[in-house]
Amino acid sequence: MEGEQKKCRNCGASFSIDASDKSFYEKMGVPVPALCPVCRFRRRAVFRNERTLYKQFCKLCGKSVITMYHPKSPHIVYCNECWWSDKWDARTYAQDYDSATSFFGQLHALALKVPKVATYSTASMGQNINSEYTNFAGSNKDCYLCFNSGPRNENCAYSRGLMQCRDTLDTYFSEDSERIYEGVNVQKSTGVAWGQNALESLDSWFLLNCASVQNCFGCVNLRHKSFYFLNEPLEKETWKKRVAEITGSYSRIEQFKKVFEEHAKQFPRRENNNLKSVGCTGDYIFESKNCRDSFEVGKGEDLRYVFSVKTPKDSYDLIGHGRSSELLLEGVGVGVSQRVKVGWFVENSHDVEYCLAVRGSEDCFGCVGVKNGKYCILNKQYSEEVYTRLTSSIVEELKTAGEYGLFFPPSMGFFAYNETVGQDNLPLTKEEALAQGFRWEDDIPATKGHETLKPDQIPDHIKDVPDTILKETLACISCGRNYRLIKPELEMYRRALIPIPRKCFNCRHLERLARRGPFTLFDRTCAKCGKGIRTNYSPERPEVVLCESCYQNEVI
Ligand SMILES: [Zn+2]
Ligand SMILES: [Zn+2]
Ligand SMILES: [Zn+2]
Ligand SMILES: [Zn+2]
Repeated sequence: MEGEQKKCRNCGASFSIDASDKSFYEKMGVPVPALCPVCRFRRRAVFRNERTLYKQFCKLCGKSVITMYHPKSPHIVYCNECWWSDKWDARTYAQDYDSATSFFGQLHALALKVPKVATYSTASMGQNINSEYTNFAGSNKDCYLCFNSGPRNENCAYSRGLMQCRDTLDTYFSEDSERIYEGVNVQKSTGVAWGQNALESLDSWFLLNCASVQNCFGCVNLRHKSFYFLNEPLEKETWKKRVAEITGSYSRIEQFKKVFEEHAKQFPRRENNNLKSVGCTGDYIFESKNCRDSFEVGKGEDLRYVFSVKTPKDSYDLIGHGRSSELLLEGVGVGVSQRVKVGWFVENSHDVEYCLAVRGSEDCFGCVGVKNGKYCILNKQYSEEVYTRLTSSIVEELKTAGEYGLFFPPSMGFFAYNETVGQDNLPLTKEEALAQGFRWEDDIPATKGHETLKPDQIPDHIKDVPDTILKETLACISCGRNYRLIKPELEMYRRALIPIPRKCFNCRHLERLARRGPFTLFDRTCAKCGKGIRTNYSPERPEVVLCESCYQNEVI
């Protein structure tokens, strides 16, 4: 099969469809997409608000609930307990399919009527305990503001992408770790603060691309070392003394950050942070095979354009979940499923198309909230024969409109662009978002000007911070937004000698995303051997970027 070059219907960008893409689309029975990968990601993204949480009341039991739906959202929100219960039945909202009007119009009307769960938790991962302020998370205990996280996290906060972590704060992407602070991709480590791309490391601060180090401070590209300071070995006592001069103090840490940034510039970087993966392009791809243009993938196989997924096979265009699944196309939070074409929060299902929040179902089309359905369209039950006839006429309608195989249209988007992972990863201005048919939310609650303690009134050293700080309202030095501390957080700062953060959670999260790097791959050449590489270091960036094999020769 020959590849082809396409021009995106939405943004005009050119993108290529190669032979393996074609055979995947053929297998899924859809035409090649008319939208480029970026525009496709954005369409999915407006169905994934992880971090923008609100307070509402459950429309069934009346109890106060934390939810991803804005109080002004037209969606009907149930608390997680009510939504998962048998107190309601999605089939009572069944609609007759009317071939004379648009399918998406009918699906949108149905989606607005059927109740939504307040926050997304993955049933297959298990219950969250005392973790009300989490979303896209399962099997977490005593966690606060953790997103896309689980299973088995305990006492973690302000993080995204944690698995089996304990006592971890302000971390992006970490697994099997404990006492991590301000980490970005810290794996199988304990007691690491400001680590980035650190593996199997212990009691260290400011690490970049290090593995199996212990008691290292401000080090880059080290393996199997201990008591190093800015990549120089020190006597144990000297090391401890130098470290003690910095830790705990906000001003000294800030000073050291600048020193470390300069220090790090002299070391070469690896083209990506993939581990034990073959035939993969993208970043943070672990133990995977043939995953291209993908980010944050664990144990995936034959994937393209996926983000934050675990273990799926043979799938394209996914955000989140993916566990034990294959042949998924255009999914958000789809898992434990097979042959799902366009799905949102679909689990334990197969052969479903254009479904939302459907579980335990097969052969369903355009259903919302249905459990254990078969031959249902717009939540209405049909015979196999009528189902087959009606679905083929819907498919024809979608094909004619050039929509078949593409995600739900932006007009159906559940969230405003700036509430979602779209804004985190491929940001747009308000004008750009509106021009592409997405919504924009101007009214995201954030208090300002209510601080009871000004940033310069916070003691510089953590040892001088009194318990009363838990009662204070602080103001972010970057955006001015008010924020407060929680007790486990203060305890951890004291134990680990970490100064009180002067920025709010939102600004801290955005800084970690900047450290992680963009979701865009560029063609560069290895600075040593000249081989072509695909990397998210853009060509104009100053870092020296090496291909995998040159990097390994240099570092180990
Ligand atoms: Zn496009
Ligand atoms: Zn309720
Ligand atoms: Zn801020
Ligand atoms: Zn090279």
